[in-house]
Amino acid sequence: MANCLVWFRNDLRTHDHEPLRIATEHAGSGGNTFALYCFDPRQFGRSRFGFDRTGPHRTRFLIESVADLRDQLRRLGGELIVRHGKPEETIEQLIQELSIDSVHYHREPGTEEYDIEQAVELACQRGRVRTVHRWAGTLHLPEDLPFEIAQVPEIFTHYRKSIEKSSSHRDPLAAPDSIHCRLPECCVVGDLPGATELGVEPPKFDERSHRDYRGGQTAGMERLQEYLWDRDRLRVYKQTRNGMLAVDDSSKFSPWLANGSLSPRTIAAEVSRYERERVANESTYWLIFELMWRDYFHFIAAKHGRHLFQIGGLQQTQLPWLRDVERMDAWKQGRTGYPLVDANMQELAATGFMSNRGRQNVGSFLTKNLGIDWRMGAEWFESLLIDYDVASNYGNWNYVAGVGNDARGFRFFNITKQARDYDPDGDYVRHWLPVLANIPSDRIHEPWKLSREDQARYGVQIGREYPTPIVDLFVSVGAIK
Ligand SMILES: Cc1cc2nc3c(=O)[nH]c(=O)nc-3n(C[C@H](O)[C@H](O)[C@H](O)COP(=O)(O)OP(=O)(O)OC[C@H]3O[C@@H](n4cnc5c(N)ncnc54)[C@H](O)[C@@H]3O)c2cc1C
Repeated sequence: MANCLVWFRNDLRTHDHEPLRIATEHAGSGGNTFALYCFDPRQFGRSRFGFDRTGPHRTRFLIESVADLRDQLRRLGGELIVRHGKPEETIEQLIQELSIDSVHYHREPGTEEYDIEQAVELACQRGRVRTVHRWAGTLHLPEDLPFEIAQVPEIFTHYRKSIEKSSSHRDPLAAPDSIHCRLPECCVVGDLPGATELGVEPPKFDERSHRDYRGGQTAGMERLQEYLWDRDRLRVYKQTRNGMLAVDDSSKFSPWLANGSLSPRTIAAEVSRYERERVANESTYWLIFELMWRDYFHFIAAKHGRHLFQIGGLQQTQLPWLRDVERMDAWKQGRTGYPLVDANMQELAATGFMSNRGRQNVGSFLTKNLGIDWRMGAEWFESLLIDYDVASNYGNWNYVAGVGNDARGFRFFNITKQARDYDPDGDYVRHWLPVLANIPSDRIHEPWKLSREDQARYGVQIGREYPTPIVDLFVSVGAIK
């Protein structure tokens, strides 16, 4: 009989949650399993370059996710204590208030996350309380890898091949059958804050959004059901995943994966079932392949620690990065004069989402064409992305900027070619930049080439209603080698 406290972080679910399982077993029928979520004020402050650390879309999504977690726990007989404060301070208080015997949590990649864990460990030591932690969020667990974290290969293909040869992932754990939790009357459960109380302006819904992502395990599971089974889109994932416009071009699992309302092992188990019951093909394999990229960035973050966030990146490459605020603003606001970049940046600001193809292009443009410090881009993404995940974001930015794990050396995207390849009819650009809507498909990606007569014919004045390019694509690319 014991009183256990489960500290929820980016693992906002009751399924496939080992600390929750261990805590409920440990507490037994005579003890209690309490659950806690802290809205940490450090997550709602300003970043190094002055951006909001958590913008409106992710704030809304997070509040919804915590609300859903509370519902799920209540259904099992439990309760979620909610606080607006630092976990280390809150846990220290709760240890006394609830006579806690052990604290259970998932460990996470990222140095700030690690520092917070250390502060929680200290608080527990002071309270003479045992902690039980497990690794969170990846398909494969560190103990199932064929190498130590310090030996994770620097090249993804090497990592993937070793894993495919010698490692398998575990099945997801079911949620506990029930949770015993009797909160003493003196303990306030705590209301969920609104965005404003967290210092964030509530997001406005943009009519151009195709989907209003709803946070939480319930919505995450519904999306899994919808994408695999109801719409049967997994069978063509490999062919459609680079699309930018339609919701079902790719899985859109990332927002739920990022805050842990959906577990990658649950997705993998459903993919296996789909392979047995419908079809096993290149596409079903490729979704798991992408989840392995995600795992890889998590392990690389754990391996490299603070280097992931430093200007020289994982390779500690020193390059003459710029901090050009004017050009940075043009990029942020989608006013660079390159429609593919601008449409993607406007989608990000309006919805908190951008496709992988879009992210690679805008990242390449910021770093290789504008020569801007890649960390400014990474922080802007951190602020706006609904699916922000520290390891995936900073790992991908390292990669895009050429300071991370790219075996292919210095690469940049030819934005206009990418636009023609991935938006051949211009529908994506037209959707997000209605000012260009009347330009024919074969000319929409290079509007600066339109003559005055053509501009009049298509109803747009380049340089006034839509900007001329802020740099030449090919001249600018040498700036940062
Ligand atoms: C500069 C840059 C920044 C990024 N920042 C993030 C981030 O903060 N959070 C995030 O989840 N993804 C990030 N990504 C990766 C990728 O763009 C998104 O995971 C993907 O677009 C999400 O859409 P989806 O769920 O439909 O992906 P799908 O194509 O359906 O892929 C399925 C899942 O695989 C994982 N995945 C796919 N590609 C990648 C990748 N390159 N790296 C890591 N995981 C991947 C995601 O969890 C995704 O949900 C970033 C990519 C770039 C180039």
